Amino acid sequence: MTNNCGLCSEVKNEPVKGRLNRIIQNTENFCAFVTKGPLGLGHLLIATREHYLSMATIPRDYFPELRGLREDLGVRLTESFHLPQTILFEHGPSKHDLRGGCCVDHSHMHIMPVRLSSTRAVRKIKESLGNCQTIETYEELRQLADEETAYAFFEFDGIKYFSKIEKPMPSQFVRQIIGKYVGREYTWDWRQNPRTEDIIETVERLKT
Ligand SMILES: [Zn+2]
Ligand SMILES: [Zn+2]
Repeated sequence: MTNNCGLCSEVKNEPVKGRLNRIIQNTENFCAFVTKGPLGLGHLLIATREHYLSMATIPRDYFPELRGLREDLGVRLTESFHLPQTILFEHGPSKHDLRGGCCVDHSHMHIMPVRLSSTRAVRKIKESLGNCQTIETYEELRQLADEETAYAFFEFDGIKYFSKIEKPMPSQFVRQIIGKYVGREYTWDWRQNPRTEDIIETVERLKT
């Protein structure tokens, strides 16, 4: 897709002056790379190489690959950063004027290694999102594909949750919520907190 989508350019690793290479792993249809403004060391995005609106709209046969990559990265991130678990989350699409994402309408999941008190953090995250339902597989996100509503998704401790977001979500809404539980309550905005040192350190630790 020729557009000015930042993630399209990112996954193709188009040379941009002054941009460092943040790509960690490529598979046939996905690219994992360190996010701008990581909420912690090891905070990556898993994006589709082609432009789709959200993970709810990707082709069905991508899901086994997504699962495999998520598992691989889960192991690499917990081992490299000595943290017990990873959290996975997606802002969902920001179709029309619903600003659901981090101002990016290109399907991507966030993954980062964390140490969280599972019961308390999960309860708080669910409360902040409101009306969470659980699903068994990522494929079940497809039920949200045709709807006009945005959604938020997160996975922690092996359980997958999603919440339909009926009203316009503020930019970086899910990032903001997760940021609160990983010590970034006031510094979750990637535009204001680029954290270049953390990006470089993440790339270095995962490359070795
Ligand atoms: Zn794109
Ligand atoms: Zn995002």
